[in-house]
Amino acid sequence: MPHDPNEPFVHVRGASEHNLKNVDVDLPRDAMVAFTGVSGSGKSSLAFGTLYAEAQRRYFESVAPYARRLVQQMGVPHVQEITGLPPAVALQQRRGAPSSRSSVGTLTTLSNLLRMLFSRAGTYPAGAPHLAAEAFSPNTVAGACPRCHGLGVEHDVSEELMVPDPSLSIREGAIAAWPGAWQGANLRSIVTGLGIDVDKPWRSLTKKDRQWLLFTDEQPKVFIKPERDRVDHGYHGLFWSARAHIHHVLATSKSQMMRDKAMRFMRSVPCPDCEGTGLRPEALKVTFRGLNIAEMNALSFTELVALLRPVAELREAAAATSSADSGEATEVAVRLCADLVARVRVLLDLGLGYLSLGRSSTTLSPGEAQRLRIATQLRSGLFGVVYVLDEPSAGLHPADAAPLLDVLETLKGSGNSLFVVEHDLDIVRRADWVVDIGPGAGEGGGRVLYSGPVDGLEQVADSVTGAHLFGRVEAPHRPQRVPQGWLHLRGVSRHNLEDLSVDVPLCVMTAVTGVSGSGKSTLVTQVLAELVRRHLGQAPDDAEDDELEIDIDAATGLESFDRLVRVDQRPIGRTPRSNLATYTGLFDAVRKEYAGTPEARERGYGAGRFSFNVAEGRCETCQGEGFVTVELLFLPGTYAPCPTCHGARYNAETLEIEYRGKNIAEVLALSVDEASDFLADLPAAARSLTTLREVGLGYLRLGQPATELSGGEAQRIKLATELQRARRGHALYLLDEPTAGLHPADIALLLRQLHRLVDAGNTVVLVEHDLDTIISADWVIDLGPRGGDEGGRVVATGTPEQVARAEDSATAPYLAARLS
Ligand code: ADP
Ligand code: ADP
Ligand code: ZN
Ligand code: ZN
Repeated sequence: MPHDPNEPFVHVRGASEHNLKNVDVDLPRDAMVAFTGVSGSGKSSLAFGTLYAEAQRRYFESVAPYARRLVQQMGVPHVQEITGLPPAVALQQRRGAPSSRSSVGTLTTLSNLLRMLFSRAGTYPAGAPHLAAEAFSPNTVAGACPRCHGLGVEHDVSEELMVPDPSLSIREGAIAAWPGAWQGANLRSIVTGLGIDVDKPWRSLTKKDRQWLLFTDEQPKVFIKPERDRVDHGYHGLFWSARAHIHHVLATSKSQMMRDKAMRFMRSVPCPDCEGTGLRPEALKVTFRGLNIAEMNALSFTELVALLRPVAELREAAAATSSADSGEATEVAVRLCADLVARVRVLLDLGLGYLSLGRSSTTLSPGEAQRLRIATQLRSGLFGVVYVLDEPSAGLHPADAAPLLDVLETLKGSGNSLFVVEHDLDIVRRADWVVDIGPGAGEGGGRVLYSGPVDGLEQVADSVTGAHLFGRVEAPHRPQRVPQGWLHLRGVSRHNLEDLSVDVPLCVMTAVTGVSGSGKSTLVTQVLAELVRRHLGQAPDDAEDDELEIDIDAATGLESFDRLVRVDQRPIGRTPRSNLATYTGLFDAVRKEYAGTPEARERGYGAGRFSFNVAEGRCETCQGEGFVTVELLFLPGTYAPCPTCHGARYNAETLEIEYRGKNIAEVLALSVDEASDFLADLPAAARSLTTLREVGLGYLRLGQPATELSGGEAQRIKLATELQRARRGHALYLLDEPTAGLHPADIALLLRQLHRLVDAGNTVVLVEHDLDTIISADWVIDLGPRGGDEGGRVVATGTPEQVARAEDSATAPYLAARLS
């Protein structure tokens, strides 16, 4: 069927990707289309897995016909036909960790403009040559500080760590970094021989001596006289400063224990040459409006606009002359500043005025990162494109969602289509068209229940979305709980929290609310988590987590907790080798069953054989991964199913063993719902499976790799794993936006489980934006009033009803509207 370009619809015929049931659907172009449905119903399979994947495939074929074979190997979406599909851009927020060298400036490409500004229009020291734009980037050879190669940090020993107690003398062990025993005694004798008093408190030694003892590279040899009553004749001892000793251990020691000990005296310090900026000194000498580029990168967007606006508005600019030392008043400066200001204004409109260009992208929340990407697209000038977006409202306070919608409208207005997977009903209401998928998840979903203007969904009886959208679902009634005590924090400072005092009630559910950047995550997932973690002596959650420095005057009530559980959206594993079954532990029980079958015993297969991570049982071609990496010339690594095992991950012999008629790979392919029938009589597995179904994850397959799960799914898997062992207790549960990515029906399921934890005596604290969830909490702590420096205070605290009446709270009016 040739497509008529004037016909404003994308036609999809016979889509059967994942759980989609031969779906036919027509979607309007130049419109905002919302894809709705419960978690696992098939929204992403249609929007990303079919529409975006097909657009991407066509693009690759057109740019690289010779790669066709590989593109096919990569996988073609299961769909008979799509017509009228424009090129697509995906703005997905869940997967892929950003590299630490990328920053807000690189993500938005604003850094390029700023570098151009410094290169062409900066003020240079008298007579200095003008630098190229690259010279202002620490990520280029031209710009990187030669000492730290642009990293801005160096790992080195620090005096505080090497001498933890400066009231001690050297003899008493002031220099903790020095070796003990004979070597230590030896060093003391050498120091004495050098004329330094080893019995004086460290802090009374001269600064020169202290620096020398800790940091010198000199290694004088000193003759050590024999002590009285000893018969030997003395010897020459070699001096090692504490730093030299530690570097020596790290360079030569084979003992992991020694190396670990040495590492404890090291920390990353800002590079002294570039003061942490990663830039060459010549670049740092160039200024614009009195600031160098590093200082400008540290300004908040709000400050940056204020600084550049006067230049952008200059009326009488001079023509650029490359010979002058300053180009601040030239036409180039005006043009570049005007462009910068216009682009940064969009970010202010999106509520991101508190961010700065230099902020590392690893510290951004997914919602912040997605808004930056959306704003960047706005300036890309593309039209006739479909933007496929993944829950743009996730992580947004209702007050922040409104300007985002305006930006989406602008994208649409400039001739683009928006396909948006979305749960927030206020956003769904603003769409031109809704495609509702369901009715259930996994096998129980995959059908299009409705496709048309939003109003029409009211008539669709079996749509859960319709029921929530048109108020046919009543919130369960819960009696308000009374706090059984309080955790008092006094004088907390971190990020934008400044000398904050806050009280957290015990044995109830508390929602911490506030606009983006108000300080919620800082308070909950950093301050609270770190204080309780330390009190309990638990190790940091993740090997990559460092201990956080928390500046606090006093904390009481920490002893009320005997356990800390963080249920966050971080992946349950970083490789496809971990999955739902391995994470929850239920796979152990399954592997034991396989090893216990008569056939396995006869062949001598133990439980380990049935792990795809163990050499004997796994497929050798793909090493148990199920797929292999395909090198496409110009694309980052792409995956294709393993040609030997076709994704089964095991070798043929292992797959010969059957348990109840299925081999181990077939069990990993079961959904949680199917597995709970298949393994119903296996208590160790059944318990995990039941809790997974209770949090709404019955549709997930047991072997679904950790890397394919969304943040919301990872979070609910953690919660389910926790619930399966939950007992009456005094645990503190911390959750960062547990409802992000969830349909209202899934939120209801999740809340029931969280309330169960509170009823069992635990304390739950959540960072939350979803109004229904906030209303279901017993207590609310509202931070604000705005983001960044204008936030970080407790604006209102109390029951949801009390906070709804607070003045100056950005949350109150929304709560009040919902409660009325
Ligand atoms: P939604 O976006 O509505 O939450 P999805 O489209 O992600 O739902 O998932 C629909 C169904 O397809 C679920 O049963 C899910 O387990 C399955 N599924 C998702 N991704 C994959 C995949 N990569 N391989 C196989 N099945 C998948
Ligand atoms: P919320 O969770 O309410 O969105 P955050 O706690 O993430 O707010 O941020 C509060 C403030 O602290 C913001 O001004 C933010 O820019 C700043 N901030 C957050 N994380 C970091 C970080 N890693 N480094 C520097 N500033 C940060
Ligand atoms: Zn440096
Ligand atoms: Zn294989």
